[in-house]
Amino acid sequence: MAAINPNLSEENLQQWQLRNQTMPLYERAHNFSHFVGDMQSKGHILYRRRIVSPAGREVWVDDPISGQCRPMLMFASNNYLGLANHPHVLAKVQQALRDYGAGIGGPPLLNGYLGLSSQLEERLAALKGKESAMLFSSGYAANLGLVSSLLRPRDLLLYDELSHASFLDGIKLSRLAARSFAHNDLQQLEKQLENARPDSELFVGVEGIYSMDGDMAPLRDIAGLCRRYDAHLIVDDAHGTGVVGPGGAGTAALLGCEQDVAVAMGTFSKTLAAAGGFLAASRDLIEYMRYHARSYVFSASLPPSVQAAVLAGLEVIDKEPWLRDQLHENVRYATRLLSPYGILHAPAGGILALAPPPGMQVREANLQFHEAGIFINAIEYPAVPLSQERFRISLMAPHTAADIERLAAVVEQVWRPFM
Ligand code: PMP
Repeated sequence: MAAINPNLSEENLQQWQLRNQTMPLYERAHNFSHFVGDMQSKGHILYRRRIVSPAGREVWVDDPISGQCRPMLMFASNNYLGLANHPHVLAKVQQALRDYGAGIGGPPLLNGYLGLSSQLEERLAALKGKESAMLFSSGYAANLGLVSSLLRPRDLLLYDELSHASFLDGIKLSRLAARSFAHNDLQQLEKQLENARPDSELFVGVEGIYSMDGDMAPLRDIAGLCRRYDAHLIVDDAHGTGVVGPGGAGTAALLGCEQDVAVAMGTFSKTLAAAGGFLAASRDLIEYMRYHARSYVFSASLPPSVQAAVLAGLEVIDKEPWLRDQLHENVRYATRLLSPYGILHAPAGGILALAPPPGMQVREANLQFHEAGIFINAIEYPAVPLSQERFRISLMAPHTAADIERLAAVVEQVWRPFM
């Protein structure tokens, strides 16, 4: 069993003990749900806040603490360009409901492949500069299918230590030979490539823009290493797609190494404002994965309305580049106002991570944000080590300068006792 961290707060200690208890299931579950209920009623856990309005810069929330329904400024959504409410997207969703109904009732290989699906796949392939693309019911499923279908047991996957849980779960699912390298550490990656067995095919997995801190991978250098050591480069660009690069093509296109990417992965749950995921690659690789990625073969297709929303979102990204400019302008403004408060990295996309000052309890601070009408996420232990707890702020194109000024004023107020 792991040793108890002496710096844990009373609550964290209780949570640690609950995670490590060995009593029978119903007793464990009862203790856990009692603890969570108690924390929720005190506002110490702000998960699953109930939103009762469309996703936008402002949302209405059923406040579990005051019992009132009230507006909050939303700085926790990855709907970066505001497409979830764009009139063109909504019109296409309504049309898809009329044309195709609500659902399909099967996976793509059997009965769930629509004209809309192939149209969307072609569009995504073109966005990523690849021959072909395939759709998954989530970004999580896309990573799971990708990692578990491509490698043989003797192959080696090297991946950045900050890779998303879905990528790590793909590794676990397939019991692959995989090794992590320190975040964005090119030297360590090169050493691992050098030391690989000569008969392993090599794969390198990284993100374009990292989900936790919003920083960018040195993709051009990583691509150079992949060329030198003949490794296949996999890029999860969940947070770069639609946000950076020419036409919103993503991080690899921004850095001029799109053609070095063997498999480009993306989600529909961020900029594309719906849910779902995709892979883009050569025609042969995609065809191979359609029959080997179990999260594709054994899972029902995305509802037609969702596919239509994503297709319409891609059209908006093409026709309204000013939305991207507006997002970047908002990120610049927020960076300027928040720079005295510990921004972890220069933000590359819409995510900005703030380190709490020494002595601050992130849970208590998050409750202050909540009470002041600012909806942000605290990234807490045990999701990250105690020393790396932080706040994650997501900017969107529809935020106004006044919204960002209000955010900065609340940060100032929450930080003041610690400065
Ligand atoms: N990869 C990254 C980098 C992510 O941030 C996420 C979502 N948090 C995923 C994959 C999974 O995507 P989805 O939420 O669409 O399943």
